[in-house]
Amino acid sequence: MSEGAARPRPAWVMPALRAGRVRPVVTAPDPVLATCGERVDPRDPVIVQLGADLFATQADSPGCVGLAAQQVGIAAQVFSVDVTGHAKTRTCHGRFVLCNTEVVAASRRERGREGCLSVPDLTGDVARARRLTVRGQLPVSGEWVELQTDGFEAVALQHEIDHTQGLIFLDRVAGPGAVHPRRTYL
Ligand SMILES: [Zn+2]
Repeated sequence: MSEGAARPRPAWVMPALRAGRVRPVVTAPDPVLATCGERVDPRDPVIVQLGADLFATQADSPGCVGLAAQQVGIAAQVFSVDVTGHAKTRTCHGRFVLCNTEVVAASRRERGREGCLSVPDLTGDVARARRLTVRGQLPVSGEWVELQTDGFEAVALQHEIDHTQGLIFLDRVAGPGAVHPRRTYL
């Protein structure tokens, strides 16, 4: 029904990044997690390195499907996502970093359980769109790309975009009844 449905999705390829290094992960209530990120120049070598380090740090954390700059202590609009191989994944764009990302369209909100490396002891029930279109810039080239996705990847993207705006999932839960102690680590 959306007017975007008839448009072909522009193809894009995530640029190759050099190997990054694993950075320490910041946990709540560190104030950086509540800080709205600065817009960045995706071609800046410092930002490209940050993207590579997010990949490395994410890969070092089993079950981690996304990581934002705030989680390694930097208030910037940069995050990585990789839902490859996750049981709940439908559409999957593989492993990518996006900068200065904004939501273009969101629909079909449903509740689901979320966790976060920066909130190690809790999970929460959060309503998120299951149909999502976002727009952001690739590192290295700075190319603007539009990404249409659904299901688990859509949830992961909204969780990471929130981080870049200084929000964690605990800011989105319906109330105290929607927060749960974490018993298992994915
Ligand atoms: Zn998180």
